Amino acid sequence: MNVAVVLYTSDLRLHDHPPMRAALSSCDEVVPLFVRERTAPPVSFTAPNRLAFLADCLADLDSALRDRGGRLVVRSGDTVAEVCALVRECDADEVHTAAGVSGYARAREERLRAALEAEGRRLYVHDTVVTAVAPGAVLPAGSDHFAVFTPYLHRWADLPLRSATTAPRSVRVPDRVGSEPLPARAAVAGVSPGLARGGEREARRLLAGWLRSGITRYEEAHDDLAGDATSRLSPHLHFGTLSPVEAVHRSRAAGGPGAAAFVRQLCWRDFHHQVLAARPAAATVDYRDRQDRWRTGTAAEEETEAWKDGLTGYPVVDAAMRQLRHEGWMHNRGRLLAASFLTKTLYVDWRTGARHFMDLLVDGDLANNQLNWQWVAGTGTDTRPNRVLNPVRQGLKYDPDGAYVHRWVPELAGLPAPRVHEPWRLPAAERARYDYPEPVIGLSDGLDRFRRGRGTG
Ligand code: FAD
Repeated sequence: MNVAVVLYTSDLRLHDHPPMRAALSSCDEVVPLFVRERTAPPVSFTAPNRLAFLADCLADLDSALRDRGGRLVVRSGDTVAEVCALVRECDADEVHTAAGVSGYARAREERLRAALEAEGRRLYVHDTVVTAVAPGAVLPAGSDHFAVFTPYLHRWADLPLRSATTAPRSVRVPDRVGSEPLPARAAVAGVSPGLARGGEREARRLLAGWLRSGITRYEEAHDDLAGDATSRLSPHLHFGTLSPVEAVHRSRAAGGPGAAAFVRQLCWRDFHHQVLAARPAAATVDYRDRQDRWRTGTAAEEETEAWKDGLTGYPVVDAAMRQLRHEGWMHNRGRLLAASFLTKTLYVDWRTGARHFMDLLVDGDLANNQLNWQWVAGTGTDTRPNRVLNPVRQGLKYDPDGAYVHRWVPELAGLPAPRVHEPWRLPAAERARYDYPEPVIGLSDGLDRFRRGRGTG
């Protein structure tokens, strides 16, 4: 009997899974392995919301493997040490895994390759598992990555995608290999009360529903804060319970402008991944240094706390921040305006905001989070780095009825739009009826601060 190990990381599925497919085609038995790392990598499943979602994903993967005669093997510790120990235990010849993007994942891959080679075993690293198009598969002349989205989109859209594959019918796992108990969602403390459910079955259910009835309205409705008309597939793409290749194929097959707009967003995901793969330091260092002199000190810290708590006095910003805390997820328009408010109105370092998002987001992803934060802060790939989103105008445009604010800021539930977006303008007697804070800063003062700090005005 020859044996292969399939090392799962951010690809917790059976459908369209090249590492599992390759392992099954070359070996009689396969050990599907997930290692719970003890040392916290910079990205990771370490925040409570992601740990809880991960527990769902592992339970679902284990149950899908059991349906096929197999099971999931879970170990804890250093991935390289655990894989090597397991390989010796079951005398496996080869290990298959998905290519990672972050500096951490790539360094781990290199360590694993060297350790396995030293024992005479082979590591196979498969791309197009975590992204639809591999980082580096399309390149501009004279550079190792695309720094601007639109030319990347054109090249990305022209590239033929590999076909998506079905889940295997059976997986034979050697009897002698033991596993730790699976982590339980219920054992994770500090989880957001409205956190979504994880797992491949849930991902496929969501995708099917989305293709049936959501995607057609996506183009016109994706920015409607209260309408909640986006796919909510981001945690599944992050944990890999949904294949991005399959998502692109099936969306293209749905056709129409909604599908085209949706596929464009999937391309944004690949875009950020290829930037991070080429510039791993962009997870923490300005991609483009704008000589910012970010505010620090007590006032900045107090304003940041008000931002985190959804108490800035700007209703649409506060609604978005409260949605984040309650669901571990935030609407994209909310992310844009909340991040713009922190970096360009309060003029606080994007890393502070990115860290808070990573503490709470169920889809918290090093490439997407850090590079979107940099995009909004103007230190990233945005070609208009000094644009500032005005929270009042954003509220009036993307929450015209005030329904999003009413949902998340119940103190203002009795105040109709458009006034709900500027409660400070109410006459004093009426204003006193609402237990809601005054703005932490005036918008024109914020703008002055940003311009002075960045030296643009
Ligand atoms: P949909 O609108 O249905 O889009 C489909 C998919 O396309 C998403 O699931 C996502 O995988 C991808 N996508 C959409 N917009 C973007 C984008 N701007 N950049 C990259 N991929 C995109 N997304 C994350 O997955 N993880 C993060 O940690 C994250 N942090 C963000 C932080 C900030 C400050 C901002 C502005 C955006 C961030 N995003 C992040 C991108 C985006 O907001 C989310 O992907 C999206 O809101 C998820 O909801 P959805 O699945 O319903 O998206």
